[in-house]
Amino acid sequence: MKTALLSSRLATRSLKSSHGGNGHGPRHARRASCAPTAASVPHAFAWLKRPKHNLIAGRWVPAASGKVFDVFNPADASVLARVPDSDKEDIHRAVAAARRAFDAGPWRRMKPNERGKLLWRVGDLILEHADELAEIESLDNGKPRAVARVADVPLAADLFHYMAGWATKIEGHTIPISVPYAPDARFHAFTLREPVGVVGQIIPWNFPLLMAAWKLGPALTTGNCVVLKPAEQTPLTALRLGELLLEAGLPEGVVNIVTGFGETAGAALAAHDDVDKVAFTGSTEVGRLIVHAAAGNLKKVSLELGGKSPNIVFKDVGDLDAAIAGAANAIFFNHGQCCCAGSRLMVEKDVFDAVVAGVAAHAKKIKLGPGLDPGTQMGPLVSEEQFRRVTNYMHQGKQEGACYVTGGEKAGGRGYFVQPTVVKDVKPSMSIVREEIFGPVVVAEPFTKPEELISRANDTPYGLAAGVWTRDIAKAHRIAAELRAGTVWINCYNVFDAALPFGGYKQSGWGREMGHEVLEHYTETKAVVVGL
Ligand code: ADP
Repeated sequence: MKTALLSSRLATRSLKSSHGGNGHGPRHARRASCAPTAASVPHAFAWLKRPKHNLIAGRWVPAASGKVFDVFNPADASVLARVPDSDKEDIHRAVAAARRAFDAGPWRRMKPNERGKLLWRVGDLILEHADELAEIESLDNGKPRAVARVADVPLAADLFHYMAGWATKIEGHTIPISVPYAPDARFHAFTLREPVGVVGQIIPWNFPLLMAAWKLGPALTTGNCVVLKPAEQTPLTALRLGELLLEAGLPEGVVNIVTGFGETAGAALAAHDDVDKVAFTGSTEVGRLIVHAAAGNLKKVSLELGGKSPNIVFKDVGDLDAAIAGAANAIFFNHGQCCCAGSRLMVEKDVFDAVVAGVAAHAKKIKLGPGLDPGTQMGPLVSEEQFRRVTNYMHQGKQEGACYVTGGEKAGGRGYFVQPTVVKDVKPSMSIVREEIFGPVVVAEPFTKPEELISRANDTPYGLAAGVWTRDIAKAHRIAAELRAGTVWINCYNVFDAALPFGGYKQSGWGREMGHEVLEHYTETKAVVVGL
């Protein structure tokens, strides 16, 4: 239970990955600028004021068209920065730079331990700039600075440190072969694992720095060259990370960072004929578009997509308070903007009322506010579009007849704040039960028969994560084995580590992030046979 308590503590001080609607189009009604002051963000302030460019071939350059777009602070809709509004031409230049860097080979031919040391240095630099990165993230995404400082930033650093160690361990095998049609011949056969080549990476806005780290770490340790497109809502920490990559000594063109919208820059990257692989984290809907776009040159695809994760509480959980805190953390962490959010709370009937009341009590106590306010436990949603999406779901649930135990409305203030929401008396057909809301909205359902539980828990097109709360360890293992989900947390939730693979069954994605599993997606296996 300790881990559960730790993660729920994190949540009350305030992980995609994916996704509500498409965050496209002019996103925000412009309001009076409320730019951060030097006093409020001492580390980030000077950086935010500097012009923002794309990183292509080791240089910071504007979009070829010269266009820019505004990046907003979701706490008050003020403009934080302007970044390049890149299109096909910028993507083409970035891909060409990555191709030159890959073919010229300074990165893939670098001694593995040198590559590892450089990535380790990136992790160190992230930690050295942790306060600044947490401030930028908080301003850009809306999450509490304290959460970014204890979760997003150290996890990003840890990912680079973990992946640095893999640089020297990407090994093939020697394979004893028999070759039936050559009975008298002898061979020496072995495999090599080589980088895939030029990789396009498209990331979402819910954990902007961390998602950049999840994508860049494995691509770089295996010797690939990258074009990274951050989400249009939250491009800032990726740009700051680009500076740190150069400071660490990354050769030019190995990582290129291009800001822009999904339909333009993102689509051009996914479709580009000189990109060997595309790695995407975002909505299932856009994941499908990526697959179609990738078909042109049959580039490799890995996807980390949406979820509607069941979080199951049994009456024999023992410490009910810990389970309640864990269930609240499962949905409210990062404002519910987590692909793995425990958004379907399934509770054994005997303790249903107590758990629902407990989670609602947690919800009511959550202090909403701007991410930089030290008292804030939950910030605004990331954008006006996301705000509309979540509030629409809230209203739809009411129209469909669900009972709102708490929340269900927008919250006050100029930013995109919504009330943490607990809903019960739902039917399996309701949109709030079936669809990914990607906000702080949990639907609670009682269950009586454990045998029906599994089919209900698995009754979703998604399969990213699940939680099980019980003291009966055999039951916990039986249920974990039956759940069609890439991660099952038992007596804890939202526990992430660079060494743990993360990804989805069913429509939650293809492949895994992190752990050694992710390295499969960034390497090609070459079989070499020597006639002796
Ligand atoms: P969300 O719903 O969380 O905004 P999306 O799936 O829309 O998630 O966006 C995640 C990432 O995908 C962002 O970087 C976005 O710009 C990009 N994206 C959106 N549409 C497309 C598209 N048609 N092709 C490629 N990338 C896209």
